[in-house]
Amino acid sequence: MTRPSHRIADRMSQLDASGIRKVFDLAARLKDPINLSIGQPDFDVPASARERAVQAIREGMNKYTQTQGTAELRNAIAQACKAEFGWDDGRDYLITSGVSGALLLAMMTLVNPGDEVVFADPYFVMYSHLINLCGGKPVPVSTYDDFRPDVQRLADAITDRTRMLIINSPANPTGAVYSQADLRQIADLAAKRDLLVISDEIYNFFCYDEPFVSMASLYENTLLLRGFSKSYAMTGWRIGWCTGPKTVLDKMTMLQQYSFVCAPSMAQAGALAALDLDMTAEVEAYRRKRDMVQAALGPALGLVKPGGAFYAFPPAPGGDANAFVTRAIEHNVLIIPGNVFSTRNTHFRISYATTDEKLAQGLEILVKLARS
Ligand code: PLP
Repeated sequence: MTRPSHRIADRMSQLDASGIRKVFDLAARLKDPINLSIGQPDFDVPASARERAVQAIREGMNKYTQTQGTAELRNAIAQACKAEFGWDDGRDYLITSGVSGALLLAMMTLVNPGDEVVFADPYFVMYSHLINLCGGKPVPVSTYDDFRPDVQRLADAITDRTRMLIINSPANPTGAVYSQADLRQIADLAAKRDLLVISDEIYNFFCYDEPFVSMASLYENTLLLRGFSKSYAMTGWRIGWCTGPKTVLDKMTMLQQYSFVCAPSMAQAGALAALDLDMTAEVEAYRRKRDMVQAALGPALGLVKPGGAFYAFPPAPGGDANAFVTRAIEHNVLIIPGNVFSTRNTHFRISYATTDEKLAQGLEILVKLARS
């Protein structure tokens, strides 16, 4: 029995990690699995950014920074945004502990108990958990089977309790990229209902078939979240950033002061050095991996071609993701069942952020399993 002094707060009952834990428990038994479950790049942080972070430590940049982040990094991001969006409005930027940190601050700042938050299903797991943690109601809206946003379905999901929409393009776990027309329709809907849009653009570099379009370029009432984790392979450095309506950003900054305090100081220095780097070669390599996945799983499973990120979300043969994932793991290939990211369990996620060799081996096994 739990000791009374170890009583867990009620809000924690809203969190459930059982789906993903089962996969990792199974995987722990495998020796050297072909791991197609990892949500981070397989390349390393660019050398000059690594050197800058080490140098920053040596120079004594080991103390708290300003809560909102160093002026140097914020100014550099402001310059980049000026070039991309034409913004010259003196807006504020907040450097966060990854996009995860920004999401937590945003949800805590914006979601009241009972508030509804609408987002596409399948979705990045953190969204539903953080909304629940704040006492809100996650409202996932199906985008099966092609993972394009259906604006009518989104509109139908909006009620008087709806607080905001979350958009994630390129998307985890589907790799879907929303077109400018898709985003414009969502922006029009949000404007009509006066809803804030949180745009999680952590995969903005990984967009393979068409130029990336940001919700922030189409809709002023956007809370824009971006990060360094995927673009520069800095998942462990915990650096992201956020900009948007001043009243919201001010409160998020205040909450950061009383929680994370600041993003890691030496990582902010390294991130600043990364901002100027050209990541085209890395992105090209991921485009080729995406093409490998499509060539294998398009014909075998009817995979809808993913346009970005480094994931694909094909239907499981027989429509039962758990059964297929279990068989894949028995054959040493690690993939994740769809119900970790969705109200349905008919698909599975494969991450192609691995070597070409491992990916080819994994795809061969998955195709064989699908055909057997
Ligand atoms: N948003 C999405 C869609 C993600 O897939 C992830 C990480 O997998 C994150 C946010 C969190 O990234 P960060 O490392 O910046 O916290």
